[in-house]
Amino acid sequence: MRDDAPNSWESRADASSFYGFTDLPSVHQRGTVVLTHGKGPYIYDVHGRAYLDANSGLWNMVAGFDHPGLIEAAKAQYERFPGYHAFFGRMSDQTVMLSEKLVEASPFARGRVFYTNSGSEANDTMVKMLWFLGAAEGHPERRKIITRVNSYHGVTAVSASMTGKPYNSLFGLPLPGFIHVGCPHYWRFGQAGETEAAFTQRLARELEATIIKEGPDTIAGFFAEPVMGAGGVIPPSEGYFQAIQPVLKRYGIPLIADEVICGFGRTGNTWGCQTYGFMPDAIISSKNITAGFFPMGAVILGPELADRLQAASEAVEEFPHGFTASGHPVGCAIALKAIDVVMNEGLAENVRALTPKFEAGLAHLAENPNIGEWRGKGLMGALEAVKDKATKTPFPGDLSVSERIANRCTDHGLICRPLGQSIVLCPPFIMTEAQMDEMFEKLGAALKKVFAEVA
Ligand code: PMP
Repeated sequence: MRDDAPNSWESRADASSFYGFTDLPSVHQRGTVVLTHGKGPYIYDVHGRAYLDANSGLWNMVAGFDHPGLIEAAKAQYERFPGYHAFFGRMSDQTVMLSEKLVEASPFARGRVFYTNSGSEANDTMVKMLWFLGAAEGHPERRKIITRVNSYHGVTAVSASMTGKPYNSLFGLPLPGFIHVGCPHYWRFGQAGETEAAFTQRLARELEATIIKEGPDTIAGFFAEPVMGAGGVIPPSEGYFQAIQPVLKRYGIPLIADEVICGFGRTGNTWGCQTYGFMPDAIISSKNITAGFFPMGAVILGPELADRLQAASEAVEEFPHGFTASGHPVGCAIALKAIDVVMNEGLAENVRALTPKFEAGLAHLAENPNIGEWRGKGLMGALEAVKDKATKTPFPGDLSVSERIANRCTDHGLICRPLGQSIVLCPPFIMTEAQMDEMFEKLGAALKKVFAEVA
């Protein structure tokens, strides 16, 4: 609970900071949790309280909060060459090595990498690449971008326009030309009597109808998260990517996998597109790429887009785009180490080893009459709260059920995330079985308590 003294950390945070994605009335009442450090999967606040962070920070601190190898890689690179850009024909050796490593880790036989500071910027960059390509190839009308309702692609003006969340109307977004098609969440959007396979086919038909209505020649690309993350952890319905990819191919529309959350191990494979058996034209990566130890995003272009963009850029001398810190040497050194840690030091294996226990824990909590469904893939999962399980009726929004559950968890030393009416868990890859027991025990107790209050 908050310390109200004027010089307390809570008061100072309240007075000085302008919070985003934060329930302000709740934080004013409860106080910001001001953190000092982390150890393994735990974070510690200024009062010395420990919290098991079952969300890996913001899905990204997959190697925990004190991984010595990552800290060492950062220190060593700061001493060697602490900063540089990737403009004007210059870039650090670390940047070159990381590009090689990313292409090698990608599902592409060959490709090219472009760096940003965040996932939002990587999505913006990809959209600008598609616009640039359309203009350069004599199709300047090819500008529309298709994404899905409930998708999350970021917060910059373009990536927020891609994001399929209602709050973006508060900014007058989406910008024109950003189109949202149906969300592949069968439990919520399947119609009465419709099988999951039929639901998937309907979404593919609706996508095709949208493409035809908008004009196939006006569409630059389709972006999808393999598992929708900030939409509430929504794995695709059965056969979804196999159904939509032929539609996109028919009209020559690139499929871009937004792997900001799924990339580097979260779903049990290096990429979510591998988990779901589809080959995208490009991959957007961020978060796990540095295990959260440095802000970084990357566009990994597959061979066809890489060749076309290279040719289009050479025709006008350059691709006029980039960020001051694109390909930052310290970020690249950390990413090289992070990829090694995740892929070669047993973390990806731990995701696979822990997944059955994680799923069993979610399934057990979903026996609660106020949990409508559990869903997940690898080490990302969600429980959806409902007032009535049979009719899938949600609780009234003003009860803030998921926030109450998350707050209760915080009070008992567990961080999990409320998203709509869901509680999301996205544990770090270093989690042990005992820590997973702690997570489910604390969450189970919070669910019982809060449902007893609101039922
Ligand atoms: N794409 C996806 C799938 C994401 O989950 C996120 C962030 N949660 C982003 C893009 C945006 O990344 P960033 O917050 O680094 O801009």
